[in-house]
Amino acid sequence: MATTLKQALKTHFGFDNFRSKIQEDVVRAVVKGDKDVFVCMPTGAGKSLCYQLPAVLAPGITLVISPLIALIQDQVDRLKSLNIPACTINSKLPVGERRLILADLGSSSPKLKLLYITPEMVASPSFSPCLTDLCTRGLLSYLAVDEAHCVSQWGHDFRPDYLKLGNLRKRLKGVPCLALTATAPKNVQEDILQSLAMRTPLSFVTPVFRSNLHYDVIFRELLPNPYAHLHAFIQKALALDSGSKRQGCGIVYCRTRESCEAVAHQLTKLGVSAKPYHAGLKTGDRTEAQNEWMEGKVLVIVATISFGMGVDKASVRFVAHWNFAKSLASYYQESGRAGRDGLPSSCRIYYSAKDKEQLNFLIRKEISRKQAKNGTAKETDKAAITDFDAMVSYCVQEACRHATISKFFGDKTPNCAGACDFCCNPKLVRAQLERASSLSTQ
Ligand code: ADP
Ligand code: MG
Ligand code: ZN
Repeated sequence: MATTLKQALKTHFGFDNFRSKIQEDVVRAVVKGDKDVFVCMPTGAGKSLCYQLPAVLAPGITLVISPLIALIQDQVDRLKSLNIPACTINSKLPVGERRLILADLGSSSPKLKLLYITPEMVASPSFSPCLTDLCTRGLLSYLAVDEAHCVSQWGHDFRPDYLKLGNLRKRLKGVPCLALTATAPKNVQEDILQSLAMRTPLSFVTPVFRSNLHYDVIFRELLPNPYAHLHAFIQKALALDSGSKRQGCGIVYCRTRESCEAVAHQLTKLGVSAKPYHAGLKTGDRTEAQNEWMEGKVLVIVATISFGMGVDKASVRFVAHWNFAKSLASYYQESGRAGRDGLPSSCRIYYSAKDKEQLNFLIRKEISRKQAKNGTAKETDKAAITDFDAMVSYCVQEACRHATISKFFGDKTPNCAGACDFCCNPKLVRAQLERASSLSTQ
């Protein structure tokens, strides 16, 4: 079995090995097919393969639910380039193409292996009977729900249409279900399992704790020269002064375009090659900045959080947040872009009370704006505040940073072993807090 799965991986996808033990274990469990499977692995870990390889090996069709037509198109194009029969049906599809697909699906042995649709499509009266029909004829091998956190109101990306999937699940009796996501705190995980009616699923969850990441918090307002401080941090993280050949790079996240520009400018002045990346730049300039960073021509990209979606670079030695993140969940995701290669890497927040107040104000304003529009308070709004408060606590607590993050995601307390500022030197963390509080009462 081991050799045949690996052979299939090579034959169909051209990969010599599984990305990780967990990827292999998931594929094995899905192929076995006797249980539902829940997968929570970070972005870039290779979740798609967890259903794509079993889909290729199964006799029938795998139905994949994904939230965005753009995401779907990417995947379908990739699969087609590998000669794997995949397609999508959506409202934008020309009638002719749609007819061809439906004809194949209606035939006694369809050629299609993977059918991608958005959750809106699931409920569409023109398409829904086709799904039921496939199921009755025993032609559906798996139901894969990608970006499954979209089903939860606690998630950062709730999509009401995902709630329709519970119904779909009931209609597709006997079809094993696979749910995949990158971030799922405990409450979101529970929502996913419940909404998709996944009974005693096999869970594959990458542990939250990553021992190669060193987390710390620096209070920016206490620094005589914040830019010099950031510069020193970068020099150390990239070992720029040691003459070492190790090629590494880093990301500085800022909240506004202006601060991206300012930080990139200051770093360049201090002799580090840095470029800004934000929505205010022309598309060409943005792509150029990203490419130069990917190729290692630019060491540091100074970006708003729009940067990083789908960016998969192994040698990121540090992620610094010049401004506060809007939630602990997003902070974990953003900082987690460091150290994908498993080598020691640093994650730092430059905390500022002023920043925090501003963001607090913006989040609450946005919520009251939404409430004025909808007339009610929503779970998602409460979740946004809880998550923001968790971010604040993370910065101002005297506690292990790794433990705080793991606890937030419902994991057990990890063995930090000095991989955060508090565990290295609790006295320094306390001193910083004391200086900050005396500053604020002056
Ligand atoms: P995720 O959905 O977990 O964010 P993707 O499924 O988009 O990740 O995969 C991320 C990248 O990893 C893709 O470029 C994919 O081709 C690649 N990948 C997946 N599995 C393997 C593997 N076994 N070996 C090498 N590359 C892989
Ligand atoms: Mg994915
Ligand atoms: Zn610690």
